[in-house]
Amino acid sequence: MRVLRLDKTGYPVAWISREEAATLAVKNQIIWSLGEHAIVMRGGINSSGCRSILHLPAILACGGDIEKQRSVPALSNRTLFRRDDHFCMYCGQQFPDGMLTRDHVMPLSQGGRNRWANVVAACQRCNNAKGGRTPEQAGMALLAIPFTPNAYEFMYLSNRQIIGDQMEYLRTRFKSNMRRWQAA
Ligand SMILES: [Zn+2]
Repeated sequence: MRVLRLDKTGYPVAWISREEAATLAVKNQIIWSLGEHAIVMRGGINSSGCRSILHLPAILACGGDIEKQRSVPALSNRTLFRRDDHFCMYCGQQFPDGMLTRDHVMPLSQGGRNRWANVVAACQRCNNAKGGRTPEQAGMALLAIPFTPNAYEFMYLSNRQIIGDQMEYLRTRFKSNMRRWQAA
């Protein structure tokens, strides 16, 4: 399990390891936290024979710079396929990672960009059938409009082991299309 690190305004910054969280706790760098005692870390035995125990929260906020709130999250196939819930956005069937490809809706050869808003998950068969054409040119309808995930959605997309408190926190800022996935 990883810990969700926020800036002091509550904006997501990164998933960090329990060791990194423990370091922040020991250095008193945690300003506020949610989901107390989510992780229990046992340390060594001290001179009086007691084992040190550290309780870490599932979500913590630190001081320092406020995260740039407009930066676009990095695009990777892993997070892209998760955004599209592993559905091919043309035939509507669900596939494992290895059978999906990144389709550029407006093909690169026609000036399309490699950006969240221009890419969708597509099975190999549909991607081959579409070739270097737009959906209109290929007569293939897109099942959903691709979108750029916000920081909250991106945190969700980039971690497969999110616990209840973390999910609850992230979900409050999901866009409606992401929320629908979660309800399904
Ligand atoms: Zn397909």
